[in-house]
Amino acid sequence: MPHPPRRRIAVLGSTGSIGRQTLDVVRAYPDHFEVVALVARSSVDLLAEQAREFAPRLVGVTSDDPAVRAQFTEAIPEAQRSTLVGEDALTEAAIHPDVETVVAATSGLMGLRPTLAAIRAGKTIALANKETLVMAGHLAMAEARQAGVEMLPVDSEHSALWQCLRGEKTAEVRRLLITASGGPFRGKTLAQMRDVTVQQALAHPTWRMGPKITIDSATLMNKGLEVIEAHWLFDLPFDQIEVVVHPQSVIHSMVEFVDDSIKMQASLPDMRLPIQYALSYPERLDREGTALRHPLRWAEVARLDFEDVDMVNFPCLRLAYEAGRTGGSAPAALVSADEQAVALFMRGAIRMTDIPTILEETLARHNVIAEPSVDQVAETCAWAMAQAQQIAEELSPTRRGSHV
Ligand code: NDP
Ligand code: MG
Repeated sequence: MPHPPRRRIAVLGSTGSIGRQTLDVVRAYPDHFEVVALVARSSVDLLAEQAREFAPRLVGVTSDDPAVRAQFTEAIPEAQRSTLVGEDALTEAAIHPDVETVVAATSGLMGLRPTLAAIRAGKTIALANKETLVMAGHLAMAEARQAGVEMLPVDSEHSALWQCLRGEKTAEVRRLLITASGGPFRGKTLAQMRDVTVQQALAHPTWRMGPKITIDSATLMNKGLEVIEAHWLFDLPFDQIEVVVHPQSVIHSMVEFVDDSIKMQASLPDMRLPIQYALSYPERLDREGTALRHPLRWAEVARLDFEDVDMVNFPCLRLAYEAGRTGGSAPAALVSADEQAVALFMRGAIRMTDIPTILEETLARHNVIAEPSVDQVAETCAWAMAQAQQIAEELSPTRRGSHV
């Protein structure tokens, strides 16, 4: 029987944690997927290695640093090389005529415009970059509906919810239960977390991810962003989206229906499964004989624990619910202030427990725009990053000197 044509993909952020795991999936199923475009910021060595292995038609870096550009020109053959920089390099890959599915896996705020351009160009979106929906879910989902484009979640919790919701009616959903491992500081009070180091915050108990999302997992901000992401993806109000702590990260989320039945999705904590599902949807690909085969053995898991989430000692989650309910530009202000605050923490300029203080103050100073345009979202992001920086300086005069 002839094989169906390979699905042609672009990977935005191919050198990151999600990007590299996306290429693991492609490597395991060479008959199913073909890489058309790869874009990163500045990791040229790895990008060049990926380009040699997958022979994409287009390779780009967003950095305008002359040293990076020179290295890029040297390492990537001219026929594959994108001449664009910044957002434009991502957009060029996202709307490339040969691309069917765009894996949006850059970290941070830059994925928004390229993802919107991909939606308008009719591409299927495999969405890892949750910031896009947090900043501008109202725009992205409206554009996707208009273009008849599917937004397929890569985030493990949302992939679980999506799998549980397949074949069900939204009207019959009572609530979504997003699971959280609780991160490295589960059970600790704010006072106990006052002096945690960057190293401790980066030591996630169950997941290996990029640095920003790992810090967000330690403060539970990641869970807050996921609540907002779920609100947009599944079109449910915040009152129907809850968080439950589950330290083993084996149940990736659950859906409770009106008849009290609960569906949950289980697998070992490995992002390559939600990535694979988003790429192969609506099919499931057999892992037998592939390097990805990694079955869950219940006897090894042994037990599954659940507990209520602690919103008092993890105020970032509360702030995300508040910003989500406020809507408009508030979530964009929150996620941008967090981007800045996390960078300051990683540089040693503030304490981890200063992060929620900075976010709360940024939100308090923000004049919310009800239905922000893309430009207004971008302006809000720039404003919130500057505010977060300023608030950090106001709150840590004793530590400011060498750092902030
Ligand atoms: P990483 O920091 O590991 O990787 C980020 C990737 O994006 C790198 O390829 C990086 O390139 C690239 N990148 C960053 N900024 C830019 C830019 N301005 N222009 C072009 N490329 C850029 O992040 P993760 O893979 O961990 O996360 C990516 C996204 O997926 C985030 O939104 C995160 O929240 C989400 N996510 C991640 C999960 C995970 O397990 N890691 C789980 C669920 C969601 P370079 O290497 O050159 O810097
Ligand atoms: Mg997640």
